[in-house]
Amino acid sequence: MTDVKDKLIANNETINWIPETIGKGRFGEWLRNVQDWSISRDRYWGTPLNIWECECGHRHSIGSIAELKSMSDNCPDDIELHKPYIDAVTIKCPKCGGQMKRTKEVIDCWFDSGAMPFAQWHYPFENKEIFDDNFPADFISEALDQTRGWFYSLLAISTLIFDRAPYKNVIVLGLVQDENGQKMSKSKGNAVDPFDALKKHGADAIRWYFYSNSAPWLPNRFYDAAVTEGQRTFMGTLWNTYAFFVLYANIDNFDAAKHKLDESKMRVLDKWIISKLNTLTKVVDEYLGDYKITEAARALNSFVDELSNWYVRLSRERFWSSELTDDKTAAYMTLYTVLVTLSKLCAPMTPFMSESIYRNLVCSINPAAPESVHLCDYPVFDESKIDKPLEDKMEEVGEIVTLGRACRNAAAIKNRQPLSRMFVGAENELPEFYRDIILSELNIKSLEFTSEVGKYINYSFKPQLKTLGPKLGKSIGELKNLLAAIDGKAAMAELDATGYLKVKLSDGEKQIAKEDLLIERAKVDGFIADSDHGITVVLDTTLNEELIEEGYVREVISKLQTMRKEAGFEVMDNIAVFAVCDAMLCGIIAKNKSQIMHDTLAKSIELVPSLPEETGYAKDWSINGTPCSLSVKKL
Ligand SMILES: [Zn+2]
Ligand SMILES: [Zn+2]
Repeated sequence: MTDVKDKLIANNETINWIPETIGKGRFGEWLRNVQDWSISRDRYWGTPLNIWECECGHRHSIGSIAELKSMSDNCPDDIELHKPYIDAVTIKCPKCGGQMKRTKEVIDCWFDSGAMPFAQWHYPFENKEIFDDNFPADFISEALDQTRGWFYSLLAISTLIFDRAPYKNVIVLGLVQDENGQKMSKSKGNAVDPFDALKKHGADAIRWYFYSNSAPWLPNRFYDAAVTEGQRTFMGTLWNTYAFFVLYANIDNFDAAKHKLDESKMRVLDKWIISKLNTLTKVVDEYLGDYKITEAARALNSFVDELSNWYVRLSRERFWSSELTDDKTAAYMTLYTVLVTLSKLCAPMTPFMSESIYRNLVCSINPAAPESVHLCDYPVFDESKIDKPLEDKMEEVGEIVTLGRACRNAAAIKNRQPLSRMFVGAENELPEFYRDIILSELNIKSLEFTSEVGKYINYSFKPQLKTLGPKLGKSIGELKNLLAAIDGKAAMAELDATGYLKVKLSDGEKQIAKEDLLIERAKVDGFIADSDHGITVVLDTTLNEELIEEGYVREVISKLQTMRKEAGFEVMDNIAVFAVCDAMLCGIIAKNKSQIMHDTLAKSIELVPSLPEETGYAKDWSINGTPCSLSVKKL
């Protein structure tokens, strides 16, 4: 091997190592220090070494059964090449005519593994075409410990025989550890039986865990809860979305084969998810082409999250309409297209679930379609369907909603309590369509984009002692007092404009840089703000009587809907409602009776001093702090 060291190094450079560092580092280092390889072993079991020796000192290496037979007069016709049979075969010494016997050694088993590319095809004795088609391999994968094992034996033999690398791409896998990052071992009792795990979680969930958890070359901690989590978030969400489609498509007898995805009938939200789908198809294909498996899995995961928690949630009511309108058809065809494409995109990662979704959605209505998702072509993205500005706007909507929810959380105002207004500071203002989504998601009446969100945020400042202490010495105490009394908004504006703050200390004027200050956001009364990714969201938290009343109404409706579910009523059941509460809440319920009845399918709401007997399902609640007993009865 030392003779071909340069060739080994040159051939290694043609291999795409994932990660690159193993090829250049650990494996490259091994090659630069390569030692000769003694391929014989003193064992019984193994491939018998093909060397015959004569007492005269001559040695002969046999290259085929035919050669063996031609040199031997005791080789059986159906020679079994393993021990002990092969050791009975002797050949005639070409030098002295004496009897040559096979040497007793076997071949290092790593040689067997490295001979795999041609040995598996019995090449060069047959299958030349198959071998040429399959060599070098596009891709191999094994664990990190194989740098001195299989990764090396393959390259060593291939370099000696063909002077080229036997594989183009190699993914190096990290080892699987237990929950605490310990190596699994039988003696420690922390090893997982793969068949138990498969039985418990299913093959898809286990595959998905390894694909999505971490880069392949990093160690994976394997434990039940980790697998279950991925199963719930990705597979569960995808399956529920699929089940949602199937449920309504069955109710409507919807046949996707009879419709087309008609752009003129699609809503903005439909176009958005189709755009996202094509972007997803593009990036997943690129990632997989680059062997970036975790990235591909994570792209699929976040798409499925947006599909379920944004597209389906905001489109749900369209599936509830009783007529099969153009709008409902557009929603069906959009979701159908997304689900079928997703089943193909996910097929390499969750093959069983993908197959099940594909066969039900496609094969059941199209007998001409390939009978398995695994026989389909991998999806190809359509550039004309990608609308980047639309995706960007919706992303901004998502960010604003997330910030708005964080504001509500921080102010401890739940989403059911309507608020009057919000302000957004962002580089790009959004058109009305997108504002409406934000307002409806956040339950707020109005939204204004403004460059002056700073008005609603105050700041407090403290000196960064570690850096300012040495610079200012004794004056640091004076600065601290000065900062405590400073006008936070004005100071922040000055910092944003100039990068520093001018202060007058007793030993002269100083410029304090932003990084020398500890800056904290402080509340302005009546407002709550949060910002991220260059977007600032401010909610006006002032509640007037009207908003408070609306908050009560929403709360009552929500409680009644919870009770409908708990009582096991069907979605379309009509109910009768009784309520016992104080005068204030009674007044609000009476005033908003028709809305409450409409939203809860109630035929009557009676305000009573105490719940009647035979009242149906009853429960005591605290409605925004006001005690209230409610009962619902199926009519
Ligand atoms: Zn064998
Ligand atoms: Zn001899």
